[in-house]
Amino acid sequence: MTFRATILTLYPAMFPGPLGLSLAGRALDEGRWSCEPVDIRASATDRHHTVDGTPAGGGAGMVLRADVTAAALDAVADGRPVLAMTPRGTPLTQARVRGIAAGAGAIVLCGRFEGFDERLFEARRIEQVSIGDYILSGGEAAALVLLDACVRLLPGVMGAASSGDDESFETGLLEYPHYTRPVEWEGRTIPQVLRSGDHARIAAWRQATAETDTRLRRPDLWERHEGARVRSPSGARRDKDETT
Ligand code: SAH
Repeated sequence: MTFRATILTLYPAMFPGPLGLSLAGRALDEGRWSCEPVDIRASATDRHHTVDGTPAGGGAGMVLRADVTAAALDAVADGRPVLAMTPRGTPLTQARVRGIAAGAGAIVLCGRFEGFDERLFEARRIEQVSIGDYILSGGEAAALVLLDACVRLLPGVMGAASSGDDESFETGLLEYPHYTRPVEWEGRTIPQVLRSGDHARIAAWRQATAETDTRLRRPDLWERHEGARVRSPSGARRDKDETT
């Protein structure tokens, strides 16, 4: 099954962009996903192909028109989830990425200027998604982030190299740190335990390091992780997708 990504944007030439290379690019060539950018401007109906207007109530910048954006969306809507990139949205998580990647694809709306006319979100079923607490100049880079995260999870894309199960967030913890040769570099050596060949000790070291690093670097994640452990009656960790 091909994961279909339809991207509504004023800059269709930005796609697939970096996703045309490396892992995602190979998956694209192999037909594991498709990248279908659609120019929102093609849905403008006036002579000047207007897609934006001045903000009601005044203020700087321009706002993407609801009528034009909805027309572009309606032309491609087919039951796939519709995600609008906006800093006002729900922060994207690995759990949500997994959910999207498990489906038929996604329709992604990229904002520009000051963003979308709010009535768009009242009139259509649209999930508002943020990729973090900072402001980009447009939703395209955010859409590339979302799609990159989805595509690497598609069947066959990551190959034998783990299914990514160990990685940061999948366990509710940051991943442990990595090392490779040379064994000594600028006077620094690889932790002895990793060279011991003792798989049980290595696993214990990795778990302990992941826990310490998460506690120190991401107290927010750590609290959720600990909370999940306490709430779980058996003492076993909850399903990993729920903790992220
Ligand atoms: N005036 C808006 C920001 C607009 S930035 C505000 O302050 O909330 C222009 C566009 O870039 C947005 O419509 C959105 O599509 C995209 N964008 C910017 N930052 C983003 C973020 N953190 N996550 C997702 N999309 C973002």
